[in-house]
Parts: sequence; C-alpha cells; structure tokens
Amino acid sequence: MHYTGLIERYRERLPLPADAQAVALGEGRTPLIELQNIPRDIGFDGRIYVKFEGLNPTGSFKDRGMTVAVSAAKHAGSKAIICASTGNTSAAAAAYAARAGMTAFVLIPEGKIALGKLAQAGISGCEVIQIRGNFDDGMRIVRGLSDAMPITVVNSINPWRLQGQKTAAFEIIEELGRAPDYHCLPVGNAGNISAYWMGYREMGPKAPVELPIAPEHFDYARTQVCDNRPIMCGYQAAGAAPFLRGEPVLAPETIATAIRIGAPQSWDYAQAAVSESGGWFAEFADEDILAAQKLLASREGVFCEPASATSVAGALRDIRQGHIRPGSSVVCTLTGHGLKDPDVAIRQAAADPTVVDAEPAAVEKALQAAL
Ligand SMILES: *Cc1c(COP(=O)(O)O)cnc(C)c1O
Repeated sequence: MHYTGLIERYRERLPLPADAQAVALGEGRTPLIELQNIPRDIGFDGRIYVKFEGLNPTGSFKDRGMTVAVSAAKHAGSKAIICASTGNTSAAAAAYAARAGMTAFVLIPEGKIALGKLAQAGISGCEVIQIRGNFDDGMRIVRGLSDAMPITVVNSINPWRLQGQKTAAFEIIEELGRAPDYHCLPVGNAGNISAYWMGYREMGPKAPVELPIAPEHFDYARTQVCDNRPIMCGYQAAGAAPFLRGEPVLAPETIATAIRIGAPQSWDYAQAAVSESGGWFAEFADEDILAAQKLLASREGVFCEPASATSVAGALRDIRQGHIRPGSSVVCTLTGHGLKDPDVAIRQAAADPTVVDAEPAAVEKALQAAL
C-alpha cells in the first residue's frame, strides 16, 4: 500500500478527529540501522541501533510532530502557525505550512542557526524573524504573542507535537519485536524524550506507579503489544545542561545548536520519563559530541548533525563505564541529518583535499601515497 505518512499509519493511536485530513509528506518509517563496526571496536557484545530520523522529509524528527500539529491546526480552522526554533522546528513548520496552504512565522536566534536549516526556512517563503537572543527568548515571546493573536503555536508545548513524535517508539517496537533495553537521546527542549516515553508506555506494560506524562485531555486506546520498556537516557551538551544543574541555564552555549536550550519546556515530562524508567541524565563536552559525529560518519557511514551525535557519545561512554549492561540492546535516536550543518562538518573534515593535475600519473601517485 502507498505509504503517505505516520498519521494514516497510526491513526487509531492518535487522538485526531476522525474527519481531520492529514497534512503529510511521507514522514516516519525511518531506518533503524544496527551499528556494525563501532560495537566491535569497543568490544561491546550487545546491539547498538541508530534510529536515523535525519531521513524524514525535512531532515529531522520534528516532521513527526509537525504533521500532526499542522493537521490539527488546519482542521480547527487556523490560518497561521508560529514557533521559536533552533532551526529544525522552523524547517518543519515551514514545509508543513506550505503543504497546508497556511502562513508560518518562525523566530530563530540571529547567527546561531545552522546553514541548512536557514536555507530550508528561506526557500519555503515563510516569515523568518531573526531575534537578537536565544531560543529561550524566542519561546517566551511566542508564548506571549499566541495569547494575544489568532496564531497556533507549533512548538512542543503544543500537545499534538508529542503525539506525533511518540510514533518513533512504535516503529522501534515493531522492528525489534520488543522495546530496547536502553533508549538514548539528546535533550534540548525535552519534548522528544517525553514523546518516546509516552510511546513506550502506550505499547508496553503498565508500571506500578505512573507519573502524569501524557497531556491529560487526550484519551486513546493503549493496547499493550510488548512486555518491556526501556531505560531512558537523556544526554545534554555541557554548556546547555539544565537537567544536570537542576535549574534553567541562563546563557546556554554549545556547538550543537539544536540543543542550545537553557529552559526546557517539557521539564516535568522529561523528569518523569527518566525517573519512571530508571534512567539518568548526563552531559558531554562539545569535543565528545563532535568526536561521536565523526566516528559515526567514518566507521558506519551515517552522517548526522552534531546534536544528534550526543546520543551516541552518551551511549558509548555509559557502555564503557558499565552503566549500560553488557549484552543489552541500545537504541540511539539520531535526531537530524548531517547536511543540516555543513559548516561544522567541513571544519571537522580530514585535512585539505589533495589537488593534482588532471593526469592519470598524477592521480596514481596520489593514490600510492595513501595506500
Ligand atoms: C529539536 C532537536 C533536538 C532536541 O529535541 P527536544 O525535543 O527539544 O529535546 C535534538 N536534535 C535535533 C537535531 C533537533 O532538531
């Protein structure tokens, strides 16, 4: 059957009105790639998978939430959407608004957004407003404006976003036949870790005590399809690690711009995900994040953006330190595609390219030198 996107695939698990039409671009159904070389390199006898969300239509997992949020907004008669963004939410909002024939306004931090993301918002013709401030400033402004104007906020404070994003957990369970033992992901605004936990809870067994994680006004079937749930590991960049500090960070800073957030909006949900699952938060220096990004590209052929690699930086360290048990199965979400942030990748690339004359002999000499 023609796959149109995750709304049609999971409609019975999404509390959308039955007559709401899907604004869809074929999002979801992303590959779960088992790492082959890295586990061998580090002597890990379990399995490490990456859920490559960079292969969504606009190159990040944000499409999962956006298809549902924009479909719900359109069904409700909304003409315009707005978001604050570190880049990927704006790219997704711009694309789905274009698809729906709606206007999108996006607030992004001036000078702190990766080039690919800026290109995506620009080409779509949405209204890009660069603010002299960071994501948290943008979020505060968006919250205020949406109270005063008839515009739908499509940040993850919009509960439809988490509803869409939870479907990634469904796909993982379907592919593995069970939930993994550990699920690792980068944490910025903390919506995604909350959404995955919601998804795992809906398909997994009931826990003795459950903290309120799903937006209460939703009521949908929770059919158990597997008998385990993962331990959730939330990884942050050291310069933007409010969950490690136990309070908001006023001036967050990291090269991983997608998680350069100091005041996460889904704070309580993320705390619940980690504590209910028996997981933890940890933080990583920018150098560790970039090293993981390069390792994935050079050892496995998987190119993700810096923020995404935080999940792998964390998993590898926690395997090494024994926090993640030998023999277990680990899924790391790679939240966005490497081409989103070409500047950082080029700066990390190997030495300058070799330049030679366009002669077989000259090329052969270069090959010999490298063999
Ligand atoms: C949005 C985003 C994150 C952070 O997700 P949250 O839900 O805000 O925690 C991580 N990586 C990438 C690439 C993103 O676009």
